[in-house]
Amino acid sequence: MKITCSIIEDLMQQYVDGILSDDSRRLVEDHLDSCEECRQKLLQIRSISEELDAGAKAGQAPAAEQGYGSFRRFRRWFKLRRTLTIILSVLITFCVACGGLFLMFDLESYMPYQKTGMYVDKDGMMFMEQPFYMYRGVYSGVDSSGAMIEIFYMTDTFQERHLGASTRAHIVDFGAIGTNPSIDKVYYIAEEYVKNKHLLSLFGSHATLIPPGTSKDEELRIVNDVENNSILVWERSE
Ligand SMILES: [Zn+2]
Repeated sequence: MKITCSIIEDLMQQYVDGILSDDSRRLVEDHLDSCEECRQKLLQIRSISEELDAGAKAGQAPAAEQGYGSFRRFRRWFKLRRTLTIILSVLITFCVACGGLFLMFDLESYMPYQKTGMYVDKDGMMFMEQPFYMYRGVYSGVDSSGAMIEIFYMTDTFQERHLGASTRAHIVDFGAIGTNPSIDKVYYIAEEYVKNKHLLSLFGSHATLIPPGTSKDEELRIVNDVENNSILVWERSE
């Protein structure tokens, strides 16, 4: 029969208490010579036994009951540790699963304009060729030339990039921008603004291009800068 670590473990408390037969003691010692794991366990049991002995000397248990008592306590501690290990692995598995689902379905990334396959048809309806996760509008207002502009970008997640399936229609819902008289120009914002101005946070909340409290002059300067560096998706022609 092969002497396994669990057999040695069963004998270990008696070994520490010095109540093993010579044959069993040799068996344990031979195994300990070649097994680092069991040596570590032995050190743990020794230190627990020493603590319990110290407690007993302080008058908590009669000396005669001490050996059996410490063995029982050791078993209890061992069971508790096994239960804790199980609880901990369930918790870790749960967290890893949640993290994985979050990464796959909720962690938004900026979609570069070229990747969206975006186009506007003759009626001014905007379409996307690629599945997307979210339309992110960052500005709706008047620029320095007096034109009414919309600035936005699209996001996707692992799901859209790799699993293909998306329950969303591939239409960006401005209504038909061509027939909406209030809109003159639509811009797809360059990625550097999304990054530098922290427009997209890890948990999906998103900031607007113009923080509250920005002066009108500063607002026009920022909007002008974005217009010069972003993609003009649509412009009223008449
Ligand atoms: Zn071992």
